[in-house]
Amino acid sequence: MWRLIYKFPDYPYTVGMAFRHIAVLLLLSFLLPLTGYSWGFFAHQRINRLAVYILPPEMVGFYKKHIRYITENAVNPDRCRYAVAGEAPRHYIDLNVYGDSALYKMPRFWQQAMERYGKDTLMAHGIMPWHINRMKFQLTQAFKDRNLDQILRLSADIGHYIADASVPLHTTRNYNGQLTDQRGIHAFWESRLPEMLSDN
Ligand SMILES: [Zn+2]
Repeated sequence: MWRLIYKFPDYPYTVGMAFRHIAVLLLLSFLLPLTGYSWGFFAHQRINRLAVYILPPEMVGFYKKHIRYITENAVNPDRCRYAVAGEAPRHYIDLNVYGDSALYKMPRFWQQAMERYGKDTLMAHGIMPWHINRMKFQLTQAFKDRNLDQILRLSADIGHYIADASVPLHTTRNYNGQLTDQRGIHAFWESRLPEMLSDN
């Protein structure tokens, strides 16, 4: 920006304009979906926050104390979605790839699922349910170890994955309407609509 002013002294680019442009760019970057396909930033934070209030009474006190962390870190798994190998398939499962009533017929446990389908197939079509199960075990262990950092990190993360699991579009191969000429339905459903309707 400064170089631009220096190079083109006649260019009427004032500091006020610069700030306005930066503000517009920032706004645009917030409007863009964070990483493609997952509940938007807003919805994930809202879901994690509200989840705290429906916990069993003996847990609510602890989580209320840390509600800010749980809320602010609701989007962490999406932030590393493309940076961490194997992260992306944790956010979805293309159930219809596995045939009719797959949800009821597929193995509940990872080992059995691996034996039946092989790791490559599972990774290609998403591993969300098994990953949530794995996180539950990790979270239980963190509580046993009384490891506060781990408890909070895993809690914020598991909230994210369970929220993703409640999006129908995270459970189908046609996740963005790309097979039925409805491209864009994903962001509309999970970013635009929650933002528009959240306070109604
Ligand atoms: Zn996600």
